[in-house]
Amino acid sequence: MERMRRLVDTLNRYAYEYYVLDAPTVSDKEYDALYDELVRLEKQTGERLADSPTRRVGGEPVAAFGKHEHIRRLYSLDKALTKEELEAFGERIGKIDPRPVEYTVEYKFDGLTVCLTYEGGKFKGAATRGNGVVGEDVTAQVLTVKSFPLTVDYSGVLEVQGEAIMRLSALKKYNETAAEPLKNARNAVAGAIRNLDPKVTAARRLDIMFYNVNYMSSGTLKSQTDCVEFLKAHGFKVHPFLRVCKNLEEVYAAIEEVDRTRGDLDILTDGAVVKVNDFSVREELGATDKFPRWAIAYKFEAEEVTTLLKDVVWQVGRTGKLTPLALLDPVELAGATVKKATLNNYGDIVRKGVKKGARVLVRRSNEVIPEILGTTETGEGCEEILPPETCPSCGRPLSEIGANLFCTNRDCRDRVIYSVTNFCSKDGANIEGFSEMTAAQLYDELGVKKFSDLYALEKESLLKLEGFKSKKADNLLKNIAGAKKIRFRNFLYALGIENVGKKTAGDLAKRFIDIEALQNAKVEDLTAMDDVGETVAESIAGYFRDGENRAEIDRLFSLGVEIEYEKTAEEGVFVGQKVVLTGSLSQFTRGEAEEIVRRLGGEPQSGVTKTTTLVVAGEKAGSKLDKAKALGIKIIGEEEFKSLING
Ligand SMILES: [Zn+2]
Repeated sequence: MERMRRLVDTLNRYAYEYYVLDAPTVSDKEYDALYDELVRLEKQTGERLADSPTRRVGGEPVAAFGKHEHIRRLYSLDKALTKEELEAFGERIGKIDPRPVEYTVEYKFDGLTVCLTYEGGKFKGAATRGNGVVGEDVTAQVLTVKSFPLTVDYSGVLEVQGEAIMRLSALKKYNETAAEPLKNARNAVAGAIRNLDPKVTAARRLDIMFYNVNYMSSGTLKSQTDCVEFLKAHGFKVHPFLRVCKNLEEVYAAIEEVDRTRGDLDILTDGAVVKVNDFSVREELGATDKFPRWAIAYKFEAEEVTTLLKDVVWQVGRTGKLTPLALLDPVELAGATVKKATLNNYGDIVRKGVKKGARVLVRRSNEVIPEILGTTETGEGCEEILPPETCPSCGRPLSEIGANLFCTNRDCRDRVIYSVTNFCSKDGANIEGFSEMTAAQLYDELGVKKFSDLYALEKESLLKLEGFKSKKADNLLKNIAGAKKIRFRNFLYALGIENVGKKTAGDLAKRFIDIEALQNAKVEDLTAMDDVGETVAESIAGYFRDGENRAEIDRLFSLGVEIEYEKTAEEGVFVGQKVVLTGSLSQFTRGEAEEIVRRLGGEPQSGVTKTTTLVVAGEKAGSKLDKAKALGIKIIGEEEFKSLING
């Protein structure tokens, strides 16, 4: 018995040095010899001490997970993705407690949260977080982890919380011999802990990084730093990175430090955890029904992972531009399964060294579509990707414009389907119940190739389409007719101009008084706008230079489409004003400027009189300006005029 006690103590000390401190003091061989001796003794005596390392094997598979009720609720954390959101977090705290607040910043490890319970100094069980109130009992699985103590020098009831993780090196090693390689460390952990067979868990060699004391029946902890010290002192593995910050500026600096260093870690991290250090302040802040107000998880906006690129397909978009789309071996990334990723153009493929069968680095940012950052491995079986010679949709030759390939065939099936669908979308003409499938049917069966064709549709021809009964045809016609009045911004979006998305369409609608003014705008007029660069300006000007595009817009008008302009005379900035324009304006002709004044409720005048209320003076303004000055009439320059009309 005495020998057994000594063996257990020695083995536990070695394990602690090895797994918790990362500082082994004996060889595996020496450890194994002592371990074997312990197993023999336990067999002989039929006894096993509470903290014997032989308990860590996990036992037989379980039929199902039992339920475990946490003593105190385990919260998940609210997220911040930007500095602004972090500041908003600080502001919310400041509203409740205006005193300076001390924060801690720690790594946010990407694994599976587990909660361990101790009673009378002995490990009693482990559970997942579950819904925070009730989790799954994963004692048998957690027992296979070597980096937590089976006994602690604390006699009350204790619940500690940590993140079960699989080290990246362990993942790599595992995958070298695994029949089925694991996709990433986070999946590997979740799959290991939530596996009914503890042998599977054991094979993945997990660790647990502890960061919280969820409950203790006696004694108190005063702060996060206090809590971490307690965990360390009781043999729990704690990551050494812990920054104590006096304000949010320091917090942000610590977060940046986490971002810089996380790539060097052997553990998958996806952010930093920011907590209010002082527990009495936490108490005061409390929690919403979902999250504690005193902590936030700062998640780095983009997450990256490598996967196999299976193929690249070329898609024709609404403007005829061909975009390569990468088909990937499905991989988990930032909480979603990623199967596809975008590449910009052929040049992008060459620059990134993307090949069929290569491993590529994929990033999913806050935007929806994941992108390929580069290639990490290309083997012998890899295949070069070549640009298509003809349009994958219509088979016609392609044009190279700038860095991109275009199908210039206006009747190209895919191009028409996407542009018509875009026209009908919510941010466009907003034709209800119109889908890509409708566009395809209309193209294939009725030869609908232009937006204006939609407004010329007849019930009789719709009834020929598969699935179109009288009511459905009526509905579609009603919805199309109902979409004849289109807001200016929606109309511009609906046209599907290259590089013009929702935001630019909105900006243009605000800047230009009507479609004619926009059609006549020069590239310089467009680049003078905030957020419109050379490329976007060229796309817009190029679109309206095209005779067919202009003819199509006219056809829409002749079929009853009307644009609802943003600013109407009743609410215009010049209501009740008599306005004289004098001198030359750089961005408007005299006629354009007068039209703007009229549209915004004002009355343009040709000469300055006593009734004039406003004079807009451009370059080289002459006698009219002098007269206005003499009469004390308000005078503004072109810049002020522009800012008035742009609201
Ligand atoms: Zn085509």
